[in-house]
Amino acid sequence: MKYGRCYNFSAGPAMMPEEVLEEIAAEMLNYQGSGMCVMEMSHRSKVFETIRNEAEADLRRLMNIPDNYKVLFVQGGGTVQFAMVPMNLMKNGVACYLETGAWSKKAIKEAQKYGEVRIVASSADKNFSYIPDCSDLDIPDNADYVYICENETIHGTTYFSLPDTKGKILVSDQSSMFLSRPCDVSRYGLIWAGVQKNVGPAGMAIVIIREDLLRDDLPQFVPTYMNYKTHADSDSMYNTPNCWDIYCCGKVFKYLLKNGGLEAMDARNREKAAILYDFLDRSRLFSGTVEAKDRSLMNVPFVTPSKEQDAAVVAACKAAGFDNLKGHRSVGGLRASIYNAMPKEGVEALVRFLTDYEKENG
Ligand code: PMP
Repeated sequence: MKYGRCYNFSAGPAMMPEEVLEEIAAEMLNYQGSGMCVMEMSHRSKVFETIRNEAEADLRRLMNIPDNYKVLFVQGGGTVQFAMVPMNLMKNGVACYLETGAWSKKAIKEAQKYGEVRIVASSADKNFSYIPDCSDLDIPDNADYVYICENETIHGTTYFSLPDTKGKILVSDQSSMFLSRPCDVSRYGLIWAGVQKNVGPAGMAIVIIREDLLRDDLPQFVPTYMNYKTHADSDSMYNTPNCWDIYCCGKVFKYLLKNGGLEAMDARNREKAAILYDFLDRSRLFSGTVEAKDRSLMNVPFVTPSKEQDAAVVAACKAAGFDNLKGHRSVGGLRASIYNAMPKEGVEALVRFLTDYEKENG
């Protein structure tokens, strides 16, 4: 690693590709001859319009987004989407949610403010350590949509196949797996992702929504900003957007296109995750907490036999240049988040360190 940087295993905000940060640094004081930094630019200027349009076009290319889907850049991070989804998509006032961990629970709690939430599958019985069988869910005819958190950042589970929604709209929170593997957008009604894990700075979500789900007839109480149509009709420029975030995300989209797109990311991510999971499966001191079939390729939670030892390992890792390995405060243990920008060498170095630690302390 250059510049004295550490291997940062944070769950988000998380590492960005080093060459993207270098490009941003080089453009900081004078963006491509404009005489100003992107932070200083009018969002209505030609130069910013190009940045925004390129970001959207590059994302469309990366994900192969069909023409009948809109791409929105919405401020407020992921949490605002917990409210926007039910506000915009509940027509009958009934939605089905799959409860697979902390982030689907937050989505459920928020949706309950706006209508009836049916929890049609849950892995709460085993502390959210697996993805429940979703092949024959009990989905009522009047359900407006079926909602999943496709990768649970805290518990470290992911869906390798999508639920059978019985013809209902599928809504997915892809925050912690966005752009980590190919995605068939046409299978979803709406995909959203907070960008601070796999893409850019915190504070913004990208929403990909099928056009027919945009509505003019939302209840009066829905704030203008919270209507997806407001953003769709204005190219996400209804008010001053988060220009800086759009710019940084755009850089990452270009980086991904240049480096083989989502197929290449998938191959890299599988290889990286296998290095860590193989180690955990071999280790006598460390063990993974998730059922093998549902293990996330992005967030890898693991434990030692005791809380004290967990804390000691986190401290030893930090001293050795492996930062942010502490598990989320709600579940404890350790967690290595290995998004697109974490190089394979970082995972290999961590495994070497943990192997040595085990020899000395196991
Ligand atoms: N969904 C998931 C899967 C997340 O991991 C997070 C943040 N860690 C959120 C939603 C919430 O995002 P934000 O903090 O941007 O509100």
